[in-house]
Amino acid sequence: MSEEAKVAYIQESIKEARSRVIAGGISLVCGAVFLVFAAIAFSSLGAAAWVLGGIGVFLIVFGLSLSLYYANERSILQLQLKMRATKTPACRNCGKPIPQGKYTLCPFCGSALVQPLTQNIGENQE
Ligand SMILES: [Zn+2]
Repeated sequence: MSEEAKVAYIQESIKEARSRVIAGGISLVCGAVFLVFAAIAFSSLGAAAWVLGGIGVFLIVFGLSLSLYYANERSILQLQLKMRATKTPACRNCGKPIPQGKYTLCPFCGSALVQPLTQNIGENQE
């Protein structure tokens, strides 16, 4: 897999994790609604209220764990993306990734490296 494909893959995974966090939140809200409804209509629903309440509790637990799991997953992925962006700067001349270390010249083509990559755009680079 190329570097760009990996980054695209991580970004895609972040999006996916985000939608699952939202889905978990929706499940949580639905569960709460079920539970409240079951509590309000408890006297008229009888045994059905227990079933409804049970579904509500299940949805709350399910939604909460789904949200928490994917929120954690998402933050790990975002960290990976960040590390990827700072860890492997590419040479502007040959495009090869520069290994970690204090390189002032590209080890592949020998051209001077513009340091650092996080430099402000407005700054004079010469
Ligand atoms: Zn180079």
